[in-house]
Amino acid sequence: MLNNEEINTAIQVMRTSFPNAGTTLKADNPFHFLLATILSAQSTDKSVNLTTPPLFATYPTPQSLAAAEPGDIEPYIQSLGLFHNKARFLVGCARKLVSDYHGHVPRDRKELMTLPGVGRKVANVVMAECFNIPAFPVDTHVSRVARRLNIVPPKATPLQIEKRLMAAVPRKHWLAAHHSMIFWGRYQCTSRNPQCAKCPLLTMCQYGQDNVI
Ligand code: SF4
Repeated sequence: MLNNEEINTAIQVMRTSFPNAGTTLKADNPFHFLLATILSAQSTDKSVNLTTPPLFATYPTPQSLAAAEPGDIEPYIQSLGLFHNKARFLVGCARKLVSDYHGHVPRDRKELMTLPGVGRKVANVVMAECFNIPAFPVDTHVSRVARRLNIVPPKATPLQIEKRLMAAVPRKHWLAAHHSMIFWGRYQCTSRNPQCAKCPLLTMCQYGQDNVI
């Protein structure tokens, strides 16, 4: 397993390679960012960004979306996977915001996780991106990179990965480290064809060394 120093060194290399890493979801306020994050489950940020402008224009507030039915939402998001479920989540989420949170997106993780479609990762993303509350969201890219680099054991759960990274990385760098690892997973350590032969982390990555032989 990599120790804390090695983990931070690896993440610094990722940050140097992708200095502009950041969120690629587009939204004009926390409510719309929450919706976009829910929609991004098993969909790319690019495809979400293509669907959201008309959706956001039609439903600018939680109150307006709460008055809709899932069937009203589906035409806006039918190009995305799981769109039936996602339409239910969006409407349910808006209704809960109106009924329980005065129409505001809560900042607290436990409260966020009471919203339909919001698990720990979505809650962490919203806390960090909308409210600047330190959190380390773990998505499919962060998980893959952490496992391949031996930051965590191969079968580590997302929560175990999150806890290991939070313990190793200084709190003020959590969000930037999260973005660096996502970009690394998206463009360097890709799911199917990781660029191991040209990887600056090859010397510390057994998975990569085995991959290039
Ligand atoms: Fe990923 Fe390969 Fe680099 Fe290891 S060497 S971090 S597996 S791209």
